[in-house]
Amino acid sequence: MLENVLKVSNLKVAYGGIKAVKGIDLEVNKGELITLIGANGAGKTTTLKAITSTLPSCKVEGEIHYLGKSIKGINSFQLVNSHLAMVPEGRGVFTRMTIQENLMMGAYTRNDKAGINADIEKWFTVFPRLKERAAQLAGTLSGGEQQMLAMARALMSHPNLLLLDEPSMGLSPIMVEKIFEVVRNVSAQGVTILLVEQNAKLALQAAHRGYVMDSGSITMSGDAKEMLHDPKVQAAYLGE
Ligand code: ATP
Repeated sequence: MLENVLKVSNLKVAYGGIKAVKGIDLEVNKGELITLIGANGAGKTTTLKAITSTLPSCKVEGEIHYLGKSIKGINSFQLVNSHLAMVPEGRGVFTRMTIQENLMMGAYTRNDKAGINADIEKWFTVFPRLKERAAQLAGTLSGGEQQMLAMARALMSHPNLLLLDEPSMGLSPIMVEKIFEVVRNVSAQGVTILLVEQNAKLALQAAHRGYVMDSGSITMSGDAKEMLHDPKVQAAYLGE
């Protein structure tokens, strides 16, 4: 049976008078890689911020259930302890720390030293570029490498759900391909992922299921591979 990890019901977010999210429903089940695609300003980032309660003071309505419990209004401490990890746009690695130190920081709620070291080795196999640079300061990494580090650091907290906000943003086409390869590999390790992306083609190719967001509403959802072949999706989001 499918185990529900995240269930968002009738979510509405308004910034003052601006309705950014207009009553959306979205579900992520254990082991799934789900993508939320849509144009600039569709409300994707706002949706992720509503899930993690990281929005500035604004109106959030509806229900957000994580592992069967409401997490609406959860504070950052509870969020970390509930193993819900978010890699935000812009990444936020600790630039004055090395890769190794950043990864240790990702595990700061854990005290199983052997497990932490084993995890670092495990994620180094998925992110070989990080292994080669383990002693390098994070601030000297390329944008794509910082994105990989931000993801690996989040994975060190053993997330039950990993939220990724536009991991391909601002990266060269080759690095974008590499990032998606890594996202697929992380998913193949059994990590449950909700991926927000503007690169609809690569996101749908990687994902199990997809949701299309437009002007604050979900306009389409379904099997990612079927969506890739849907003429409406192709015309609006795949440039075909
Ligand atoms: P992008 O891909 O460009 O990041 P998005 O789909 O993630 O777009 P959001 O960032 O969620 O879209 O923005 C949705 C709408 O809400 C936009 O119209 C945006 O201008 C507005 N918005 C976002 N943050 C704020 C804020 N702090 N105050 C007021 N309006 C906001």
